[in-house]
Amino acid sequence: MSRMRKRDKPWVRDMVMQRVERLFTLAAAEFRLHPGLCNRYALLARRLSMRHRVRLPAEFRRRMCRHCGSYLVHGANTRVRLAGAHVTVTCLECGGRMRYPYR
Ligand SMILES: [Zn+2]
Repeated sequence: MSRMRKRDKPWVRDMVMQRVERLFTLAAAEFRLHPGLCNRYALLARRLSMRHRVRLPAEFRRRMCRHCGSYLVHGANTRVRLAGAHVTVTCLECGGRMRYPYR
C-alpha cells in the first residue's frame, strides 16, 4: 500500500518548529567558524518544513536563500537594498534575489 497522506496531526507542526528552531540556533552559532555547515542546517530545516508541509514563519524563511538554500546572515552574505515598496535581498552565494514587501 502506498503511503497515504492522512490528516495533518496537530503535534506535527510543533515538532517541526522545535527542530527548525534548533537547527537555526545551531547555524547561528556555527556561522563564523563553519559557514558550510550552516547551509546544511538550513537545508535540513527546509526539507523538514516541506516534508511535513509546515510553513515556516518569516523570521526563518528570511534566513535562508530561496534559490540555493544557503543560510543567510544579513550583512555577511547578503546585500539588502530598498526598492520602492520592497526590500530586495541578494544572496551573495548564488546571486539570487528575493523581494519582500516593505512594512
Ligand atoms: Zn542563494
